[in-house]
Amino acid sequence: MSLPTVEAPCFLCGASDAEPLWSTSDRAFAVPGVYTVARCRACGFLYQRPRVRDEHLAACYPDHYPRHQEPSPRIPFKGPPARVRAVRWALASRLGYAALRETGAGPLTRARAALLFRRIKWDCPPWRGQGRYLDVGCGSGGALGVAQALGWQVTGVEVDAAAAAKARRFSPRVHVGDLLGAPFAPGEFDCVTAFHVLEHVPDPVAAMRRMLEWLAPGGLLVVEVPNAGGLGARLFGRAWSGLELPRHLSHFTPESLERVVTRAGGRVVWRWHQAKPRYYLWSLGHWLRDRGLDGLARLAEWRPAYGLLKLLLELTLPLARWAGRGEVMRVGIELAGERPTAA
Ligand SMILES: [Zn+2]
Repeated sequence: MSLPTVEAPCFLCGASDAEPLWSTSDRAFAVPGVYTVARCRACGFLYQRPRVRDEHLAACYPDHYPRHQEPSPRIPFKGPPARVRAVRWALASRLGYAALRETGAGPLTRARAALLFRRIKWDCPPWRGQGRYLDVGCGSGGALGVAQALGWQVTGVEVDAAAAAKARRFSPRVHVGDLLGAPFAPGEFDCVTAFHVLEHVPDPVAAMRRMLEWLAPGGLLVVEVPNAGGLGARLFGRAWSGLELPRHLSHFTPESLERVVTRAGGRVVWRWHQAKPRYYLWSLGHWLRDRGLDGLARLAEWRPAYGLLKLLLELTLPLARWAGRGEVMRVGIELAGERPTAA
């Protein structure tokens, strides 16, 4: 039996007319029922419809949902001194960490920093203002741990009390509850991040507006969501691993995410795409099983075959990232009407 649902209108434009696009059961956590993604006939927005009623949303997250089983934070300062020097240089020269700047980085350090930067930019927020950082949907605190190690004063919001308790190892200031009810003052933070949060909330424009309110002048909001306009959604449709029904209520494309930002009073200042082989391999497994090809699906999961497919994907995925068709997109957002600053 499905969770109780409601025929809610488009979250973005309010139009009531929508066409069903993809229907599927919960492939990741087996919450009972079949759920549907519809496309708004007025504005094209992709959203869950009918959608799980507010009072039943918590039932979409079973106890083994991995909110408090995250790996330990990926603190960038580890490894031999030469690597740490390169990390510090990358942070200082590319992400605005003036306090980490050292004189006289040699060509080797600089070259290594350039290589490391591709990873570091995904793990470390760009430095802003006085270094007051908020992570919305902080889970057990992975991003808070990294930010704290980088010198930020860190704060979190998390709906899951057990995960929030773990996040408190990095800061006493972790609010348990919904982001719309979080008690922060306007302009309190220099950087706010929300990784894989926006697709879970019933009103993404209100959530975006609230997060923008918390930004100090010159502050940066960083939002990451799955990309329903990417290659995976196009290739696999209802088998796309980013659907995560019934937990994902909105399915953003670069264009619809930008509309949410604009409506909330923000402005997208940069956009990055990420494409990891495992996302496509999960989708491929779903796609094969939908066609009754369980044997082939198991073959694709067999270690040597999986390794080979992963290698082939590693070689071709830079293309998807480059073309802006990645599986995950991350955008940097500033308040509209402020003077542009460097990313
Ligand atoms: Zn619409």
